[in-house]
Order: sequence, then structure tokens, then C-alpha cells
Amino acid sequence: MQKILNYINGEWIEPKIEEYFDVINPATGELMARTPLCGADAVDAAAKAAAAAFPAWRRVPVQDRVQYLFKLRDLLKANLDEVARTITNEAGKTFEESKAEMVRAIENVEVACGMPMMGKGEIVEDIAPGIDEIMLRQPVGVCATVAPFNFPGMIPFWYLPYALAAGNTYIVKPSEKVPMTMQFIFKLVEQIGLPKGVVNMVNGAKEAVDAILEHPIIRAVTFVGSTATAKYLYAKASANGKRVQAQGGAKNPVIVLPDADMDMATKIIADSAFGCAGQRCLAVSLAVTVAEARNTFTEMICDAASTRVVGYGLDSGVQMGPVINAASKTRVEQLIGVGAKEGASIPVDGRGTVVKGYERGTFVRPTILSEVRPGSEIAKTEIFGPVLGLMHVNTVDEAIELVNSGQYGNQASLFTSSGSAARKFRYEAEAGNIGINIGVAAPMAFFPFSGWKQSFFGDMHGQGMDAVEFFTQKKVVVERWPKEWSRKF
Ligand code: NAD
Repeated sequence: MQKILNYINGEWIEPKIEEYFDVINPATGELMARTPLCGADAVDAAAKAAAAAFPAWRRVPVQDRVQYLFKLRDLLKANLDEVARTITNEAGKTFEESKAEMVRAIENVEVACGMPMMGKGEIVEDIAPGIDEIMLRQPVGVCATVAPFNFPGMIPFWYLPYALAAGNTYIVKPSEKVPMTMQFIFKLVEQIGLPKGVVNMVNGAKEAVDAILEHPIIRAVTFVGSTATAKYLYAKASANGKRVQAQGGAKNPVIVLPDADMDMATKIIADSAFGCAGQRCLAVSLAVTVAEARNTFTEMICDAASTRVVGYGLDSGVQMGPVINAASKTRVEQLIGVGAKEGASIPVDGRGTVVKGYERGTFVRPTILSEVRPGSEIAKTEIFGPVLGLMHVNTVDEAIELVNSGQYGNQASLFTSSGSAARKFRYEAEAGNIGINIGVAAPMAFFPFSGWKQSFFGDMHGQGMDAVEFFTQKKVVVERWPKEWSRKF
């Protein structure tokens, strides 16, 4: 069984802790590690190490800071398969999904290598004769990330590379459910030779998060996870005077118009709804068919759901892995039951799934709930499992109204071959990520990972220029150098 250690001030430290969280391979049921549930002491040690490293790190020229990231990028690429295997084993996704996750992480490192350009300030000369005004971007200080379980490799990279390149020092708090991926990645981080204390990792759950939110040294916090925790963290971090951004949960709708290419729409929507076992914040979880799209789409999506190959993500041919743990399986199955009680029918029912050879795995086969009623619990609640609800309306306007009635705003998609319908949707849909004939509208690293309404609390997002903004603070200098002071040498 692997030991989960903290990484503080350039050292691997075994915490002296009594409480642990079991890390179980969700496909095989094997106990792989136990996450130490650290608290204030470990966070304090990491914050102090990061604070001690900050003055020297911010003075390293930016073009030299990004050299470390170039090295990290090469190491991540060289170790892609091994990191991906770790992700599959602890988070349950297929090997291909895990590799795709790490490609996104690497992409963020590459974009952050542009910090010499992205982090530049501005100057306007002669705002009055002999007076210049300069805007500098300076690092914020010690920053921290609190990560969720569903993308253990990628999500810290929406932030970490930008923060480091901008001259900040850092603490990562991985999800206690999936600590092994960051253990592996920090072994690579160790090889790039960063000065001690520039990056640190503390393992734990609520207690560690609370210690981060309360620690006076930590100046900025990013969070990705459920909406309930995002709200809590946002309120507490703000009250403690920290810069904060918190990405929350989602319930992503897709509209299918009758003029859509149904083969393409079905394949892409099935991949979105059931990929990563539906545990993606951009997973489509409600499909709204318009007019005569209903029958064809329902038939085709039920077929796609019932033929998906479910199993252990490292086995070849597997298209979908398990959900994260037994508690999640129970919750997903209960919510399917809630849907049925509310009047939905279940043409494809994934409850009670057992995969041969992996009887201890926490699998839920793809599930379709049809005739989901607007406003019902199942139409509103994030299920975070491979469950797609179907709804039906008669017009595009009704469909957009339904999309916009939801509390979340992470993603909304439309399948159509009509340019004007696409434009109307893009214009009116209330979500931060929009897909037109796209099922997972994940922004590239040079765009912000947006989110609206109850899917996001804050201002600047992760990735790209938003991350540069978040991890730098602006300082405006007004300088007067009168001509008569010029000396003649
Ligand atoms: P979670 O909220 O349970 O946990 C996220 C992190 O918060 C973990 O590190 C955990 O240790 C910590 N935490 C949990 N409860 C806490 C509490 N009461 N106080 C302080 N800290 C606490 O989320 P999860 O189950 O790990 O992740 C799944 C959720 O994340 C889903 O809702 C999904 O939609 C969301 N998500 C959102 C995005 C996005 O970009 N909007 C991306 C990925 C995942």
C-alpha cells in the first residue's frame, strides 16, 4: 500500500496523524493508500515554507522562472502513461480519458510558459509634461488550490503553472479521495529543481481546507468542487480578506433540434453524458429535444447507452469506468429512484450493475430517464453519474427558456445545422461554456474555464489570461521626473 506524504519545503514528510481516508480503486475494490487527514499544523508548515521562499522566488527573472515549467512539461509528457495509469486506478476513468486529462494539464503548463509576454505591465508616458504612469503586475504571495476528485491531474494545473510563473509560491491540497496522482506529479516537480518551499502539498480534507482559509499568510485561494463547498469556501476566504475563485457544480443541458445530424449528436452526447462515468463538470445531464427530434433521438441515445462497454479503465475496449466510490454509487442509484418516483420512465436502467471479474467495483451502467418534468428534483439536482434525463418541448424558444431556468451555468450545448438557431442560442444561453455541436465544451488553456450562476463564485477564472490576472496584483505608479533635474554627464 502506498504511503501518502506531504511535500513541504522541498522535503517529503510523513504526517503524524490519527485519521485517514481510505483510497480504494473503484474498479477493483483494492485498498491502495490511506490519505492522512492533516490539519492546521501541516498547513502552517507549508504556508511558512512558501512565505520564506517567496521573496527570492519573485526576484527570479520571469524568463528564468518559466524554464522550470519547460522542464516540468517535458517530464509530464515523458511520464504521461504512468500518470494516466495512476489516475485510472484511483479515479476510475478509462486510460484514454486519463491521458486526455493530462494532455490538458500539459497544455496549461505550455500556456503559462508565455508569462514573460502575458505578465507584462503597461506604461503611458507624459500623462502630464514629465509625468509617466506605469502599471506593474506583481505576484500576490502565497497562494493555494483546493482540488476535487474528478480530475486529480488536470485541475491543479488550471492554476499552479500560472501562479509560479507569475512569481507566487504555492500550496496544493488534493482531494482526499485521489491523492496518488499528485504524489506522482510532485515526484516530477521535485526533479525540476525549484528552490525549496516554492511548491508544497498538504493532504487532508475539511480540516486542512479550513486551515488554508484561516491562515493569515495565504493570500489567494482557488477551489473546484461541489457548489455547497464552493459557496462555503468563497464566503470564508473572502471574509478573511483573501482573493478567491470557486468553481462549483453543474447540471448541463443540451438542446437537440430536428435538423441536427442525429448520428453525430447521439455519439457526442453519449460521450459527454457517460464519459468519465458522468463525473465531469461539463458532462451533459439533460437533453431537451425539440419537436420531431424526440423519437429519433430517444431511440438512438437509448441504444448508445445500453451498448456502452463498462469495466476497469485499464482493460482494452472499456468505454466507461466506475463511479468514484460506494457512497457515490448509492447516491446515484437513489437519485435514479427519485426520478422514477417523480414520474420519469427508465428505458435504460444502470442500477445494480455488477461487472464480471470486478464484483467489488462501484459501477453504474449508463442510465436514461425519459419524460423528466421541468422543475422536478431530478431536473435540478446534479447527479454526477452516468445518467441522462430527457425532456421534450415544441420550440427553440421553449428549449432555451428551459436551459436558462436552471440554477447552474457551467455549460449549455445545442445540436443543429441551422446557423441562425446556433447564433440565437449562443447569444441567449446563460452559461459560461457554450457548445454548438459539441458535447464537452472544455476551453483550451488559453481561454478561461468559465462558469456562471451557481457554478462559479468569484470574478476571474482559471486558465489563460484570467489566471494571470488572478495571480498578479496591479500596482500603478505615477512618476515625475522634471526636465530641470536632468544632469548633464
Ligand atoms: P467536494 O466539494 O466534495 O470536494 C472538493 C474539495 O473540497 C476536496 O478537496 C475536499 O477535501 C474539500 N471539501 C469537501 N467538503 C468540504 C467542506 N465541508 N469544507 C471544506 N472543504 C471541503 O467536490 P468533489 O466531490 O471532490 O468534486 C465533484 C464536484 O466538483 C462536482 O460537483 C463537480 O461538478 C465539481 N466540479 C466542478 C468543476 C468546474 O469547473 N465547475 C470542475 C470539476 C468538478
